[in-house]
Amino acid sequence: MSLKRRQFLIFGGMAVGASLATLSQEVFRADKTSDRSATTAANLIIPQVNGQSKNNVFTIGREIAPKGLFAPARGDVRIVVISDLNSQYGSTSYEAEVVQAIALAPGWQPDLVLCSGDMVAGQSPSLSQSQIKAMWAAFDKTIGAPLRKAKLPYGFTVGNHDASSAVGANARYLFAQERVLAKAHWQAPQHDPGLNFVDRADFPFNYTFEQNNIFYLVWDASSAQITSKQLTWVEKSLASPTAQAAKMRIVIGHLPLYAVAVGRDEAGEFLVNAEKLRSRLEHHRVHTYISGHHHAYFPAHRGQLQLLHTGALGAGARPLLNSNLSPQKTLTVIDINLSSATTVYTTYNMTTLKLVNQLALPRIIVGPNGSVLRRDVEWNDLTPAERSLTYVPSS
Ligand SMILES: [Zn+2]
Repeated sequence: MSLKRRQFLIFGGMAVGASLATLSQEVFRADKTSDRSATTAANLIIPQVNGQSKNNVFTIGREIAPKGLFAPARGDVRIVVISDLNSQYGSTSYEAEVVQAIALAPGWQPDLVLCSGDMVAGQSPSLSQSQIKAMWAAFDKTIGAPLRKAKLPYGFTVGNHDASSAVGANARYLFAQERVLAKAHWQAPQHDPGLNFVDRADFPFNYTFEQNNIFYLVWDASSAQITSKQLTWVEKSLASPTAQAAKMRIVIGHLPLYAVAVGRDEAGEFLVNAEKLRSRLEHHRVHTYISGHHHAYFPAHRGQLQLLHTGALGAGARPLLNSNLSPQKTLTVIDINLSSATTVYTTYNMTTLKLVNQLALPRIIVGPNGSVLRRDVEWNDLTPAERSLTYVPSS
């Protein structure tokens, strides 16, 4: 046990009883390298620091969550992260966990709701234009409109089921109609997601926005290839004074850099050139890359880059590679401490509304294009057996 962890447990025990000490085992209080544990403990004792976001008055350090759920201490900035909402092809209804998440979202008092893609159930050539429009209407009724009503800004990236960027032999989009209709949906003024755009020239595919001193870059990673044209834009955007002056930079895309889930460890299910992309993000001091598509929650890091692999809320939760844990549908709350540029994740199983025990997740996942470590684990912490793990295809 590290000194900081021990300090926290003692602090927590003294301040608010033993139950929190137990919970601290289940919640990542800190990036390993930070002193966030101590900060969090201090917040538990002195919880009266007032802040104000665009829409909500909140108290930094106060423990806030919907009634009955575990309540993490609020950071300077709080994001509710959801992902992979869709059911089967063409579906205009959403599973109970999606509906529940949207109903509960205001109770966390977030500054922002982020979605890492797959909001509707497209990517089928058999879907007609009217079916696709009906899916987006259902999305708006179930998710978009309730978030607008709650005055929660909504940042998102398109997934392969929303607007796949896959191209055919003739270099044309395979799902061109879906891309046209997704763009039309998001560019309609009545669907305004409430973001403070920096660059919306290619919204909703590649765009940037800023909120609470954090710079967000969304890239279209709805297929495995980030194009050279995209990368030129990414470099320019992340190098800009606006991006570099921000206290933190976060990038969001649907496909992850590395594979973490069973059945998603084949080419096409994670980004091509992950190592190069990661080095460019690190170069521009990106803190976290948030992705979806694998339907399996895994809070990870590789090198200097934090990697939040979000779980699905819709159909098809998947098991993690290197794990016997049951698949689960999850939602993650990120609390951000701006001065230390650190993040705390609190993740809920949205079927049971219980906390996910993050320390029970694998310490390392070895995939076909590289391994990722659980975010509290460093390479030096691994046992010789863990270090010698090699990739085994899941199917
Ligand atoms: Zn997907």
